[in-house]
Amino acid sequence: MAAARIIDGKAFAAGLRERVAGAVATLKKQHDLTPGLAVVLVGEDPASQVYVRNKAKQTVEVGMNSFEHRLDATTSEAELLALVEQLNTDSAVHGILVQLPLPDQIDTEKVINTIDPAKDVDGFHVINAGRLATGQHALVACTPVGCVMLAKDALGDLSGVNAVVVGRSNIVGKPVAQLLLQEHCTVTIAHSRTKDLPGVVRRADLVIAAVGRPEMIKGDWIKPGACVIDVGINRIERDGKSTLVGDCDYDTCAKVAGSITPVPGGVGPMTIACLLHNTVRAASGIAGVATPKM
Ligand code: NDP
Repeated sequence: MAAARIIDGKAFAAGLRERVAGAVATLKKQHDLTPGLAVVLVGEDPASQVYVRNKAKQTVEVGMNSFEHRLDATTSEAELLALVEQLNTDSAVHGILVQLPLPDQIDTEKVINTIDPAKDVDGFHVINAGRLATGQHALVACTPVGCVMLAKDALGDLSGVNAVVVGRSNIVGKPVAQLLLQEHCTVTIAHSRTKDLPGVVRRADLVIAAVGRPEMIKGDWIKPGACVIDVGINRIERDGKSTLVGDCDYDTCAKVAGSITPVPGGVGPMTIACLLHNTVRAASGIAGVATPKM
């Protein structure tokens, strides 16, 4: 059986970062504007520390200013809100990202909705979610944007494509479904109560898997030739080793699909690249200048 084309998210993300760097150079040259991204980390979660370090490194690499705020795990909600308010008014800061998850004493929704929507580069603020849902200009969550970029690269025009999104979270499933609707896909959103999930997935020309269940989606669920975008990042023990796998059973899906993202190296690298892309859009928007082409 023919093997699927592997969608190289790492290479695509590198290309996007190059285009972002070009846009940053244009903003500096034409408008004396250097986009700035502030990342706030509360506590010492090891995975979050790695993410924050990578975000800061890549922010600087594309020529933007990076501001890091590391707060103690015991930080109160009021202290975090005060920092967000301060960043909202800081003219050097065009994007604000509060790394999730937050400690239990802090109301995550309250923090996200305190970020100025114009600086909400994670796209989680209720105003940006509402703008996306109503087709208005919005800052859109990074991972969903990355998924759709990869799907368009693999399939070309998505108009009329039957897309099935497995997962309905506010950070992946719902925004990716909204973006696919904007691309004129026929969108089905599946979740834990969906009946006959394999049958639903089998109808899809494009499958976006955002479930958080290791290797749940099997090759015999996939329509031959379909494009499979696997958002899942799951750490499992295999052969006595800790290993990362997606929500799709890669080996069986790759035998049937037309194209597929690997884990790691598929959707994952797109997230930070799209964050930088969003920061350029935010900086241009705040300055009232056209966003350079990226
Ligand atoms: P959530 O746990 O918030 O949502 C999971 C969704 O999957 C829910 O809508 C849930 O349905 C659905 N679901 C769970 N079990 C089943 C099942 N057996 N059958 C069908 N649907 C099911 O996860 P996230 O959206 O935050 O993340 C999904 C995955 O993507 C995770 O592996 C995460 O690590 C990864 N991820 C990767 C990112 C990246 O690449 N940078 C960024 C963000 C996430 P219901 O609503 O009914 O409970």
